[in-house]
Amino acid sequence: MTIDPAGWLLAAAHHPSPHCDDRPAGTVIDLLVIHNISLPPGEFGGSAIDDLFLGRLDPAAHPYYAIAAAAGPVSTHLLIRRDGTLIQYVPCHRRAWHAGRSCFSGRERCNEFSIGIELEGTDTLPFEAAQYVTLAHCTEAILAHYPAITPERIVGHSDIAPGRKTDPGEAFDWGRYRNMIRADYFQTTHHPQTRPDSTDDKESMGL
Ligand SMILES: [Zn+2]
Repeated sequence: MTIDPAGWLLAAAHHPSPHCDDRPAGTVIDLLVIHNISLPPGEFGGSAIDDLFLGRLDPAAHPYYAIAAAAGPVSTHLLIRRDGTLIQYVPCHRRAWHAGRSCFSGRERCNEFSIGIELEGTDTLPFEAAQYVTLAHCTEAILAHYPAITPERIVGHSDIAPGRKTDPGEAFDWGRYRNMIRADYFQTTHHPQTRPDSTDDKESMGL
């Protein structure tokens, strides 16, 4: 998989969401956040997740939709369906609204400097093999494009919003995921603090 200069993964279906904005100027993208989502909870395959991220979920259609809608506009960069299908809502260089109130290594507002990937699923139901395959492939594309994302900078939503969020949950097999990522994608000497002048344009060009 490759990421084009506009921040879109070419292998993904593109569903552009209005729920995004610019990252602060000079932001180095150095965090990858793994989530799970299902709407209604535990039900898979419908259009509700798409509708939620695209701002067209009907709150009256299901009691849980009203709850989801009341939480305000949200989005993610990428969604991986149960069959491994990859959908992208926000270009990687822009800010998606997936993390909410969050903190990583003392830095708050993780949306500013992270990329979010949602797996269609729940905390307790095993994810599908096809989802791990797609997740590994798109992670490799992201690592190649954003080398400041090191192994310890791939985290779960629950890691950056403890007590508030539980996803991707106990069912997510971190060891399986990490083992599927080719090791050479992690062999980088890059350190974000040596690049204080980095810009989104440079990031998207892979510089
Ligand atoms: Zn989440």
